[in-house]
Amino acid sequence: MSRRAQFLEVMGIGTEWVPRRMPDVAVPAPVAESEAEQAMEAVTAPAPVAVMPAAPSVAVAIEAEAPAAMPPVVMEVPLPRGRVDEIATLDWNALQQHVAACTACGLCQTRTNTVFGVGDAQAGWMLVGEAPGENEDLQGEPFVGQAGKLLDNMLKSLGLARGRDVFIANVLKCRPPGNRDPQPPEMAECEPYLQRQIALVKPKVIVVLGRIAAQALLRTTTPIGRLRGQVHSYQGIPVVVTYHPAYLLRSLTEKARAWEDLCLAREVHDGAGAGA
Ligand code: URA
Repeated sequence: MSRRAQFLEVMGIGTEWVPRRMPDVAVPAPVAESEAEQAMEAVTAPAPVAVMPAAPSVAVAIEAEAPAAMPPVVMEVPLPRGRVDEIATLDWNALQQHVAACTACGLCQTRTNTVFGVGDAQAGWMLVGEAPGENEDLQGEPFVGQAGKLLDNMLKSLGLARGRDVFIANVLKCRPPGNRDPQPPEMAECEPYLQRQIALVKPKVIVVLGRIAAQALLRTTTPIGRLRGQVHSYQGIPVVVTYHPAYLLRSLTEKARAWEDLCLAREVHDGAGAGA
């Protein structure tokens, strides 16, 4: 069975489905698509607070609770220089220990385990999700629930496996209580860990899973439907955006689009789709 047929099978799509031609350039998805996706992953962003002048800081894109015509708000969340600089020098083991002991935000009070990530620390592929859920918090491993099973199947269809040339991480290393959306200060405090993970793994491609992770990493409020189909860049590493597996579990149409995204990521990984 071809990889495509295998993928469609595990995603629950009939093999009569015909892929659209991969776009040569960024093609915005129909508005309805991004609206539907946003409805599924609806955000109630906290009201923006005053921009603090202190440096360094991590810019976190949030959507203003304002009419659609309003420009997006990007909130600068200041971080203490010493902590950011220290994390940027850590080796893999020290980074793991730092994450395990982290008390930088309030999520440390409600977590069971930190979720550092799983896989090959020298992987060519890095997958980045949003934050641990209940199962991940209990087990200390990312994507172990239903969405994780789908993710494993998606990897399988690409000839990959968890832990073999893949490293899976999240924007947040601790579970937001009740699986609420990550808050900008939490993402800002946690970003140095992801930055260091990426710097140490040096993947050939980063696949970002879902709108919240994509907007946080790429510092944008652009809807996911318009972030897909392009090769972005983070720390000089090509980034491909696709839908979150939890969303794909509920949406047949987007499963087919996710296959296009993974094909694009494969091209980038193999060196045929460079251009970030
Ligand atoms: N969703 C995520 O984004 N990450 C996980 O680890 C689990 C579910």
